Amino acid sequence: MTFLIVLPLLAVGFGRVFTDAARAAGVPADRLRGAPVLWGLVVAIALFASVLVHELAHSLYALRKGGRVRDITLIMIGGVSQISELPRPGRVEAVMALVGPLTSLALGGAFYLLHRALAATGQFELTFTAFHLFYLNVALGLFNLLPAFPMDGGRVLRGLLEERWGALRATRVSADAGKVFALLFAIVGFVTVNILLMVIAFFVYVGAEAENRSVLVKALLGKLRVRDLPIQRTEPAEASTSVYELGERMIRERRVAYPVEEEGAVAGIVTLEDVKKVPREERHRLQVRDVVRRVEPVDAADEAARAVRALMTSNVAVVPVVEQGHLVAVLSQLDLARGLQLKELEATQHPSPPPPIAPWTSAEQRV
Ligand SMILES: [Zn+2]
Repeated sequence: MTFLIVLPLLAVGFGRVFTDAARAAGVPADRLRGAPVLWGLVVAIALFASVLVHELAHSLYALRKGGRVRDITLIMIGGVSQISELPRPGRVEAVMALVGPLTSLALGGAFYLLHRALAATGQFELTFTAFHLFYLNVALGLFNLLPAFPMDGGRVLRGLLEERWGALRATRVSADAGKVFALLFAIVGFVTVNILLMVIAFFVYVGAEAENRSVLVKALLGKLRVRDLPIQRTEPAEASTSVYELGERMIRERRVAYPVEEEGAVAGIVTLEDVKKVPREERHRLQVRDVVRRVEPVDAADEAARAVRALMTSNVAVVPVVEQGHLVAVLSQLDLARGLQLKELEATQHPSPPPPIAPWTSAEQRV
């Protein structure tokens, strides 16, 4: 959706600097047929096509190395490939990050040659398009080579540092570099009133922080399963129970969340807030199925990292837990935090060398 927002913005923005853009391409602006804003649209689409090719390069390399690519999303400031991967050495990670920018630079080089060849022919439209594909791809390649998360250069840096320092420290250093660059972008963007640069600064900062945190959490979680976390075991609530009855059960059992079952199947989660939201006089009439929140369950045998993702995407911060097909418990963000604290305590009581971390076992982002 941000693509649809940014497309007309880019088109209009580019249309305004059209004369300069034509001069840069070595083409007289008045010889180009079509309105400047249409050319803006062409360049905007060319930019996104370039980003897509860049992402495809990452994905194809990942596939060749045995990874799995779930999807590629084009967002406002670039592309994101969701790649689920097997653990692999830092060197492979570095190469995989490098193929994107290298592809962009190679494409840029090819379009440069094409531009030179076309310049003499008087094919103004093609010359203009080739020039802009040249500089967009070169810009894309160079920007992504910055040695800072979440740019590809940051991944290269981390891949190289990982063998010496381990995934945690290597990630922290690359993420800190990303934040420094984000700050620089923000300052330059502010001083030169460049809103796009400020937007990029924001995304870079957030991306660097998210990467850092996800590696940290994964390292702490290690091989932990959902059943190893302090989940709250309980009988599920029936969807046909009245809201009032459930409220009584909450008071009696001193609980604030229940998994909900409907005809033997998982229906979701119901919390104290859901009961409170129903006016008192309505609580006898309404049933739990009227207020249940449809939340996908996690399995007790799942890796705890999966529960983290489920909790992050659930808007209630509580997920139902199933074990051998039966609803047995709920897991909240608080339980997860307690699980991590217990894990830390365990590490201080029973010190042992940390197991090797497989940092890329789950979906990751590349820009
Ligand atoms: Zn990339």
